[in-house]
Amino acid sequence: MRDLRVSVTDRCNFRCMYCLPETEAAHNFYRGRWANFPNPAPIARQWQSHEKILTFEEIERVVRIAVGLGIEKIRLTGGEPMLRQELEKLIEKISRIDGIKDLAMTSNGYLFAKKAKMLRDAGLRRISFSMDSLDRENFKKITGRDGLTEVLESIELARQLGMNPVKVNAVVIRGINDHEIESLAEFARQQQLKFRFIEFMPLDSGRAWQKDLVVKGSEILQRLQKRFSLSPVKSDNASETAKRWGFANSNAEIGIIAPVSEPFCGHCNRIRLTADGKVRTCLFSVVEHDLRSHLRGDASDEQIKKFFVDAVWQKEPRHYIGEPQFKQPERSMSCIGG
Ligand code: SAM
Ligand code: SF4
Repeated sequence: MRDLRVSVTDRCNFRCMYCLPETEAAHNFYRGRWANFPNPAPIARQWQSHEKILTFEEIERVVRIAVGLGIEKIRLTGGEPMLRQELEKLIEKISRIDGIKDLAMTSNGYLFAKKAKMLRDAGLRRISFSMDSLDRENFKKITGRDGLTEVLESIELARQLGMNPVKVNAVVIRGINDHEIESLAEFARQQQLKFRFIEFMPLDSGRAWQKDLVVKGSEILQRLQKRFSLSPVKSDNASETAKRWGFANSNAEIGIIAPVSEPFCGHCNRIRLTADGKVRTCLFSVVEHDLRSHLRGDASDEQIKKFFVDAVWQKEPRHYIGEPQFKQPERSMSCIGG
């Protein structure tokens, strides 16, 4: 395990239909198409109370112990991490820990501009934004918020601040934004971005996921190859989730993350810490390991270390998406920390 994803809040200011849909229409965005809808009822939205959320000191301790065990890369996520008060203080604490090679954050970008410089000065070097559409109306339909302008401004600002690379992620859903694949790639080419297309995964609180809504990575690639001259980018990191492609005459890059159609579980080197202090060894874990009670008990660093090691030994061999034994986790992506 080299990569620890730390969720700093389960709250969010967006309501993406593939994550935390708000309206009935978004909850049901696909349902009208399938008469015999087999999925269970949507997950009720419930924020964790503040006292259950790990403090900065608790997160710092966990990160330090995890780094002692071999973790090299920390990504702050959520929910929307920009909603966590004084996030810059956490970044400062984490960036001071010896042994971290990479400190990054994933954000929807809406509030990034307010604190961007502060976060960079505190030690944040890399950022990934989520942007699923370049069409204002479609963006609003997907995220539940009229925020495209703010996100575009954040992307530009992150580049100006020298964050490198600035990545942008789009979840592709058939019939929702798949018609924008080429224009999103063109945007990446023009703006010299590292752009990731991600397959829609069954982690939405609406439980609206259907296999038919997944646009397979292979289809995304075929379409992009028709339009652009792309060459594969070689990687010596077997745990990398994206297959990457470079454009001719540009530093821009396309990555395709296809966990549903081309699972990479065997190479996974990630673990997750939820905002309420649970260790998850897989996005699709149905079991969580309660670290918070140990942190708030009298566990020593050695005991926390052992807890981590024991949890990692229980890491799932693979996900079972699309198979009869698959069980969607009780919590949505926004609570797990994507
Ligand atoms: N709020 C931040 C954001 O949206 O970037 C960070 C947290 S979000 C849960 C992290 C990533 O998970 C985002 O890139 C988002 O697009 C992705 N995501 C959320 N739900 C997903 C789903 N059902 N399938 C695939 N990706 C998903
Ligand atoms: Fe919020 Fe990110 Fe989930 Fe969208 S994907 S609802 S921005 S946590």
